[in-house]
Amino acid sequence: MILETSYAYHFSRFFVSMTYLDANATEPLHPVSRDAILAALTLTGNPSSVHAAGRAARRLLEDSREAVARRFGVRPEDLVFTSGGTEANALAIHALAPGRRVVVGATEHDAVRGAAPPHAAMLPVNRDGLALLDALPALLGHGPALLCLMLANNETGTIQPVAEAAAICRAAGALLHVDAVQAGGRMAVDIADLGADSMAVSSHKMGGPAGAGALLVRPGLPITALIAGGGQERGRRGGTHPLPAIAGFAAAARIAAAPAGLAVLRDMIEAAATRSGAIVLGGARRLANTTCLALPGVRAERQVIILDMAGIQVSAGAACSSGKVARSHVLAAMGLGALAGEAIRVSLPWNAAAADAYAFIAAYSAMAGRLTRDAA
Ligand code: PLP
Repeated sequence: MILETSYAYHFSRFFVSMTYLDANATEPLHPVSRDAILAALTLTGNPSSVHAAGRAARRLLEDSREAVARRFGVRPEDLVFTSGGTEANALAIHALAPGRRVVVGATEHDAVRGAAPPHAAMLPVNRDGLALLDALPALLGHGPALLCLMLANNETGTIQPVAEAAAICRAAGALLHVDAVQAGGRMAVDIADLGADSMAVSSHKMGGPAGAGALLVRPGLPITALIAGGGQERGRRGGTHPLPAIAGFAAAARIAAAPAGLAVLRDMIEAAATRSGAIVLGGARRLANTTCLALPGVRAERQVIILDMAGIQVSAGAACSSGKVARSHVLAAMGLGALAGEAIRVSLPWNAAAADAYAFIAAYSAMAGRLTRDAA
């Protein structure tokens, strides 16, 4: 019988080495980003001040803006720094939803679902989590409308057909807001290629620190502030800039690249997990770092605890701020029935190595073998 008491849980932390496979919750800080943060911490000066110290801070702010803007294909003036992805999504919806019919993808993150008006229509997905675009024209209707569709899903890694959705939106005269928080550091993301009107990104999902993010907009799209404050960010987001976080974000944006080796490690994990009885969810169009594995008959929370005791950190469904595991609305929307409560998310960080994949495979196979024997 496997020990799952809280005593064993806490005791295990002293003896087991850690394998961090929860990058979609937050990426490890990249050393280049840490250096940029440390350098910015030594700088005294508010970018809004007119004196020399303020001007130096302003230079760092604007250099950082340019780096992040360049990465995502927008002009620096079309980037609004925010506290993270949640605020960037909320700002977009606050600015663009009034007077428009709002349609939201069924597998959107709570950052979008929570900011969307209660009467928003839902764009359904298929069993792979892909948006059913045939349903979109009717949902958008003929008047002003806004579609919120994520680029890559945080639980499954599924990449949505955003450019196709953008074409439908254009034909209908509707706006498109894209939550690119998970995709930002893991694939090439360009706002014009996607055909998006606005896009949310987040520093800590691309190797930067938590506390910074951005809303990117196509030229000329007006954004009314959610927080007016002192008129920073051209009146689109008030509040003194957290320069260390923004500098760390920019450093991460300069170097973040689609990590070539991660797909190989993910494929190794999926092949081994499948041999142990797992079902891989989320279809073929996925981020290279993400796999969502269902083990039929075994609650996801139980799997997470067993793996944690073995030193492997993964999550069940969406990482929840309360520390509790909520039923996954993403997997439920995919029509997966009981499997929705039996799936864990393995998300490889930018610095994952083969040893991490081997450690996961050993722990997962042992867990699946024991649980299967216990059930027999
Ligand atoms: N959107 C998606 C798809 C996410 O996965 C997350 C965080 O997990 C967010 C938005 C929120 O971003 P942040 O943590 O920067 O507020």
